[in-house]
Amino acid sequence: MFRRFVAYYGPQKHLFIADTVCALVLAGIDLAFPIILRGLTGGLFTEGPEAIMGSLAFVATGLIAMYLVRTACKYFVSAQGHIMGARMESKMREDLFDQYERFCFSYFDRVNSGDMMSRVVNDLFDICEGAHHLPEWIIICGIEIIGAFVILFTIAPVLAGVMALITAVFVAIMVRQNLHMRAVFADNRRKISDVNSQLQDSLSGIRVVKSFANEGTERAKFRRSNEAYLGSKVAQYHVMGNYQATSALMTGALYTAIVVLGGYLIATGNMSAVDLATFALYISLFATPIETLVNSTETFQKAIAGFKRMDEVLATMPDIVDAPDARPLEVRDGAIEYRDVCFSYKDVELGGRDPQRPVIDHLTLSIRPGETIALVGPSGGGKSTTCSLLPRFYDIDAGSITIDGQDVRDVTQESLRRAIGLVQQDVYLFDGSIRENIAYGRPDATDEEIEEAARRANIHDFICSLPDGYDTVVGERGSRLSGGQKQRVAIARVFLKDPAILILDEATSALDNESEEAVQESLERLAQDRTTIIIAHRLSTIKNADEIATVERGRVVERGTHEELLARGGTYARYYRMQFEGVRAKDVPS
Ligand code: ADP
Repeated sequence: MFRRFVAYYGPQKHLFIADTVCALVLAGIDLAFPIILRGLTGGLFTEGPEAIMGSLAFVATGLIAMYLVRTACKYFVSAQGHIMGARMESKMREDLFDQYERFCFSYFDRVNSGDMMSRVVNDLFDICEGAHHLPEWIIICGIEIIGAFVILFTIAPVLAGVMALITAVFVAIMVRQNLHMRAVFADNRRKISDVNSQLQDSLSGIRVVKSFANEGTERAKFRRSNEAYLGSKVAQYHVMGNYQATSALMTGALYTAIVVLGGYLIATGNMSAVDLATFALYISLFATPIETLVNSTETFQKAIAGFKRMDEVLATMPDIVDAPDARPLEVRDGAIEYRDVCFSYKDVELGGRDPQRPVIDHLTLSIRPGETIALVGPSGGGKSTTCSLLPRFYDIDAGSITIDGQDVRDVTQESLRRAIGLVQQDVYLFDGSIRENIAYGRPDATDEEIEEAARRANIHDFICSLPDGYDTVVGERGSRLSGGQKQRVAIARVFLKDPAILILDEATSALDNESEEAVQESLERLAQDRTTIIIAHRLSTIKNADEIATVERGRVVERGTHEELLARGGTYARYYRMQFEGVRAKDVPS
């Protein structure tokens, strides 16, 4: 892990070296100042004012040059140091995003989006704060503290020894306070994340909140988490105040020791007044670095914890990867064959299924080129799962699935997914224009092609009636469009993609009758000349399918045309009667 972390410094090595050199120069100059002053003022007592006047111009020039260099270094360390951190953060963010894009559905089934967001946003910030501040702090503070003590010991060992003792006692207290502070900070982060999720949940579900007139309950819930956060912030500021006060007390104790003990040493002829002044200058020099170093332990731990979490993601192998000899899928006619397929979800099992039985249990189904087959059956029977195995969203445990004789595991995922178009009940539109959303099916499409796709999806006239036409922004998740309009944009997207195989997973289930009719018409047009699998809630929408297969407990239990299945009087006939004769039963088809 450490090597992987250090590797991120690689592309920034020039900046890192320059930053380190500047930090060294900065620390050196800070250390040198009291010595220069000491030399100058020391001369005042030993050599007299004339000698000082002689060297003053030289010292002044030196000081000005030194402080100009210091200013430049200060700028470099704070600006370029942060820039280096930001570049590392940006690279890490890119790597994390790339890795998330590589993961398969099974990963997103088990990890929630809040956790992923917090890794990309909060953890990376913590890592990069540590990555650029820690080396710089260790160099500057380390040199300033050690250097100051070495110099003080050479000037007056007894006084320096007493100061070291006082400093050690206070550092011990501050480290303890810092540990307590860390617990308070952790509580703080938990409380703010509660506020965030409360906010996100309430705002995302605002339509449900309003429809139940539950604003009051939501406000009360939010107020509770907000107050808990305030309480934790108050506690945080108390401990931070104590910490600052201890640091101030340390400085006070050091000054008192210098004045009392230093006064005694001067009175007994063991120290000069100039040396005493030098001591005072060094106290102000090392009090701040000590505080910074003690604080840096927290930055360090946060950075390590953050990188561990990031590394965990980077080290996770995606469940599905292309075989080394994978070739692009060659779609000839679009014949699909499920042969004795078994499959179970590996991590989380939902629903009240018997855990011993696979979700897909020796399912066999062949679909002829250009045929439209409808899957019906009880909710949870495995229809959607059957469909998601075809584009290889999950890998099967046994059996095989082939398209035109090629096993889906032997072809590249990209070519496989390009050959399959998917229209689902829950349409996802990106927050951009209608044009961009349709072009998502084929980013290089011309305006004419986009319009043609929209026409075939029955949405062109509606788009033209909007003031901004194809440039209308659809809002987050397409919130400015109705369910039917969103669905038709999604269909236009698939028209443009022009896949050989189509999966319609309850594409019209959430629509009212009127929108369903318009969508249904465009779906039928879309399904023409393509091998199509339809899962439909309303049996009326699948009557025109070439064939119907009933899927129950992960198997195909019957198959035939609508008329054949009705005549057979099996499961399908029972479902059909339930829907059209108003018979109520708990096992209605989904
Ligand atoms: P249908 O489409 O026939 O309603 P599904 O294929 O959606 O059935 O579901 C079949 C079974 O698999 C159900 O028991 C369901 O709870 C479970 N299931 C579906 N999706 C997942 C998932 N992503 N992770 C775990 N279990 C799932």
